Amino acid sequence: MDYRKAEFIKSAADPSGFIRDGLPQVAFAGRSNVGKSSVINSIVRRKNFARVGSSPGKTAHINYFLIDQKFYLVDLPGYGYAEVSKAERDRWGRLMESYFASGLVTLGVQIVDVRHKPTADDITMMNWFKASQVDAIVVANKLDKCKKSELPGNIARIRETLDLSEDTPIVYYSAATHSEREALLLALDGALSLE
Ligand code: GDP
Repeated sequence: MDYRKAEFIKSAADPSGFIRDGLPQVAFAGRSNVGKSSVINSIVRRKNFARVGSSPGKTAHINYFLIDQKFYLVDLPGYGYAEVSKAERDRWGRLMESYFASGLVTLGVQIVDVRHKPTADDITMMNWFKASQVDAIVVANKLDKCKKSELPGNIARIRETLDLSEDTPIVYYSAATHSEREALLLALDGALSLE
């Protein structure tokens, strides 16, 4: 799989925009500012592919990127913005509900900050994957900001807080240095070929 062969296909703001062509869909989820755009840019090795630091008002849609003609990398709208109205939060919930109910999700990639305990919103997001019986990979980003000595404890805390099953891998990562990029691509390749 050549992850650098990536192209933006479309945004969907509601189910009428969902892509339903049978190709696998790998859904990337994460709290705002966790580095979701940066991780996607790092995977495809482009600087401004997914938008870094997008504003809350523009987030309630799903972005589809086609990778190597083989699968869609689906950028789910970020969550956990401090200044989001209830109406917007409800819209986010409805969009997630319809996307997960569509049965289109092949694999989940849940991005968290390796330094912090996952938030209530992270748990809610993880529960969307679990409830839809979608396998997930957890990416613990911002590895470059984490002391080596704290890594094992932090990873254990992430596993415990998100209540991950034994077969859900946690891949640590740094979108800033691209460290562990090969490990993440291997995990993605592995999870996709199981389908
Ligand atoms: P998003 O809101 O989840 O899409 O997050 P962004 O990709 O916009 O990143 C939020 C901020 O975190 C930006 O300032 C990034 O440069 C920074 N960032 C993202 N990933 C990393 C990382 O692995 N290490 C460090 N040090 N900073 C990162």
